[in-house]
Amino acid sequence: MLPHLIVLGAPGSGKGTQALKLVDTLGYKHVSTGDLLRAEIKNGSELGQKVSSIIARGDLVGDEIVLELLKKNCEVTKYSYIFDGFPRNAVQAAMLEDHLLKGTRKLAVYFKLDLEMLLQRIVNRRSCPSCGEIFNLQSKKPKKDDTCDKCGAQGLVHRKDDNEDVVKNRLDVFRENNEPLLAYYKNASVMAELDASKNEKDVFESLKNLLQ
Ligand code: AMP
Repeated sequence: MLPHLIVLGAPGSGKGTQALKLVDTLGYKHVSTGDLLRAEIKNGSELGQKVSSIIARGDLVGDEIVLELLKKNCEVTKYSYIFDGFPRNAVQAAMLEDHLLKGTRKLAVYFKLDLEMLLQRIVNRRSCPSCGEIFNLQSKKPKKDDTCDKCGAQGLVHRKDDNEDVVKNRLDVFRENNEPLLAYYKNASVMAELDASKNEKDVFESLKNLLQ
């Protein structure tokens, strides 16, 4: 079984894009807590109603809430997972270890990127409503306007929390939590990093090398 992979990095650093490539090529399962929370909001569930204003502001949802959602949505003894968006802080890292990953093989990879590059990356991000493929109106335009290159679905989605004001807050929240989070995985000796400013293909090669 491949080691579980914990992808760390700011919003827009390319974690989700690379996770999808690993799913396609190596057979990983991808679990994104952001996607799970957005699905709850879309379904209008009680949980969705509780978290929607928090997400709209770009703040973090409570650790316990997200942990429960994560536990419901993965079977870590059966499959190798890419954890995307969880953990967001050192408390969540300890939760992930205690409740899900104790005794399993794992690697945490930090997608290192100059935060100044991120604002533009994120406000131009669009995603496919059907297969989740991620585009960028500047650096990775869909070949046909508003249509997914991969599956042909129409109407690429611009996330509500990908607007400039909210992104600024999300980056502040990231800055506050990132150092202790990286320190957690450094202490556990399961930490690697890659240069996330490179193009998509090169980042993918670096990621695969780390997994070998
Ligand atoms: P993402 O798609 O990972 O950028 O997450 C979108 C939003 O969902 C974040 O800005 C948070 O409001 C919320 N969220 C996602 N994952 C977590 C988490 N692990 N802990 C707390 N909030 C989260």
